[in-house]
Amino acid sequence: MSVLELSLSEVSQQLTERKLDSVTVTKACLSQIANADPQVQAFLHVDSEGALAAAAASDARRASGQSRGPLDGIPLALKDNLVTVDMPSTAGSKMLAGYRSPVDATVVSRMKTAGAVVLGKANLDEFGMGSSTENSAFQKTKNPYSLAHIPGGSSGGCAAALAARMCFGALGSDTGGSIRQPAGFTNSVGVKPTYGRVSRHGLIAFASSLDQIGPMARTVTDAALLLEVISGFDSADSTSVNREVPAYSKKLTRDLQGLKIGLPRELMVDGMHPEVRARIESAAQILTSRGATIIDVTLPHAKYALAAYYVIAPAEASSNLARYDGIRYGHRTSDSRNLAELYAKSRAEGFGSEVKRRIMLGAFALSAGYADAYYGKAQAMRTRIRADFETAFEQVDALISPTAPVPPWKLGEKIDDPLAMYLTDVMTLPVNLAGLPAMSVPCGFVDNDSLPVGLQIIGRHFDEQTMLNIGFALESETQFAKRAPPLSTTGAR
Ligand code: GLN
Repeated sequence: MSVLELSLSEVSQQLTERKLDSVTVTKACLSQIANADPQVQAFLHVDSEGALAAAAASDARRASGQSRGPLDGIPLALKDNLVTVDMPSTAGSKMLAGYRSPVDATVVSRMKTAGAVVLGKANLDEFGMGSSTENSAFQKTKNPYSLAHIPGGSSGGCAAALAARMCFGALGSDTGGSIRQPAGFTNSVGVKPTYGRVSRHGLIAFASSLDQIGPMARTVTDAALLLEVISGFDSADSTSVNREVPAYSKKLTRDLQGLKIGLPRELMVDGMHPEVRARIESAAQILTSRGATIIDVTLPHAKYALAAYYVIAPAEASSNLARYDGIRYGHRTSDSRNLAELYAKSRAEGFGSEVKRRIMLGAFALSAGYADAYYGKAQAMRTRIRADFETAFEQVDALISPTAPVPPWKLGEKIDDPLAMYLTDVMTLPVNLAGLPAMSVPCGFVDNDSLPVGLQIIGRHFDEQTMLNIGFALESETQFAKRAPPLSTTGAR
């Protein structure tokens, strides 16, 4: 078996036992990137030299008995909205083409301190705005399970790189589903932690009250290992919460005895793909066989989450993106006669159309005379959505739903219909509005067994463990995660 088929934890084990070394593993990833990425287009930037140097340093540490732990020597990918000093950070936007950050994001420093090898920066929808990665200013990433289909978004580059066996783990960001949905669409595991669990310092902001960084991996154990390392207090993020970080990976259990899991009827929407519904129902049965009880619950305001999100997120984006004016940050036009024109032309040239649409929607929703009617109403709805979850969690320990109502769609299929694209976020958005932890785990394949779909698991605030345990139980009872895409890994050892 190719080393690329191993999970992160298996590679880690073999590195510890000195059956493998990090340079070998890193070279295998780099050669898989060289072979498969011309088709998949997951990476915006690959740092072969830096990765090999980090791998050699890791091997030297292990040789002298100074391993930094389970991530030491493991090759990973980073979504390109996480800033790095030694590579460009573009957020998928022409606005930031070639931008070099003076600092590493906190999660990046934590990865480096843990000894991880950063292979490169992965593609995304511009500033995280989108659900298919087609809104990247640079390239369109393909789904490794079917190259005619989108990998999901906005962390589509990370998801595709993982599925195509180019790395063993990745860090993405999730504002309304951008970790969970692409994980679901590529047969991967993706975790959006509780708001405040992971520092956002160095995440290029989209909508600050919703954004969270989280891990993506091929197994639940791998995601738990990554989550342990990136979680925890950081004084550089004022919303970071100072709470102990459990050893998630060590506490994983498949035993769901006595656990109550809610299936919110509003998230099993009409119009859902019938095969997706069937997969979720069979996952629910598997969880029952592990000792859980599935309970019908209601989230009466969940149906308003989409409308509230698409006011709040653009409102925050319009404010966050005001800094890209061509002066301190961002592309600067070469053709302007005065300052006002410099601002206007720099922004017109630097931003793509979805970003412009969001800035306009957001600025409108916040404008005098309209703020109460739009932004104020959306915030009031956010409070109700959060309260619905609190009521549900009085009855149950966790919730499940599909990660998305449909399987991955064809490239180009929804790109001219922004509303149709927004509608696919209906199951993931309520979670961000409530600040809860949630994840997607592989749940099988649809459309002649060809396209992956995910199960979403939602936990109580700061109860990532229960959610991970449910994912772990499902993973143990199914073999979905082991199914590699029909891409060759030959040529890579
Ligand atoms: N698809 C959603 C949007 O376009 C969520 C994106 C995200 O989570 N970054 O806003």
